[in-house]
Amino acid sequence: MAEKNLESLFQDTLKDIYYAERKILKALPKMARGAQSPELKAAFVKHRDETEIHVERLQEVFERLGKRPQGKTCPAIEGILEEGEEILEEYKGAPALDAGLVSAAQAVEHYEIARYGTLRRWAEELGLNDAASLLALTLDEEVKTDEALTALAETAANQKAKAA
Ligand code: FE
Ligand code: FE
Repeated sequence: MAEKNLESLFQDTLKDIYYAERKILKALPKMARGAQSPELKAAFVKHRDETEIHVERLQEVFERLGKRPQGKTCPAIEGILEEGEEILEEYKGAPALDAGLVSAAQAVEHYEIARYGTLRRWAEELGLNDAASLLALTLDEEVKTDEALTALAETAANQKAKAA
C-alpha cells in the first residue's frame, strides 16, 4: 500500500479540486443564465472562462507530477452547487435572486480558496515550485472573483433584495 504522507494528501486534494473545478465549469453558465443584472451575468461568464484555465492549470500540475489528470468525487462541491440550484429555483423572478446567487457563488469561491491555499502551501513544502506557482495563479483569481462578488452585492444586489 502506498504511503499516506504529505505527497499522497497533496495528490488526493489535487484530484478533489480537479473534480470540483469541472463541476463548477458546468454550473457557471447556469448561474449566468439565471442572474438578473447584466453585471452579475458578466461576472459569471468571465469566471467561467477563468475556470476553464483553472482546469488546464490543474492538468499541467498533474503532468508535472508525471500523473494522468484524474478527479475524485468531491461531495462538498456537490452540496455547495446544489444549494446554488435551490436558490435559482426558489428565488426565480424574485428581487432577492441576485443577492442569493452572489452568496451561493461566494460559497464556491471560498471552497476553492481553502483548497488552493492548502495545495499551494503543500506544493512549496514538497519542493514542487512550478506546481506551487501554478496553484498560486489560480488562488489569486479565486480571491479576486470573491472580491468582485462582494462589490456586486454591496453596490446593487443586496439593496435590490432589501427594497422589495
Ligand atoms: Fe476555479
Ligand atoms: Fe472560482
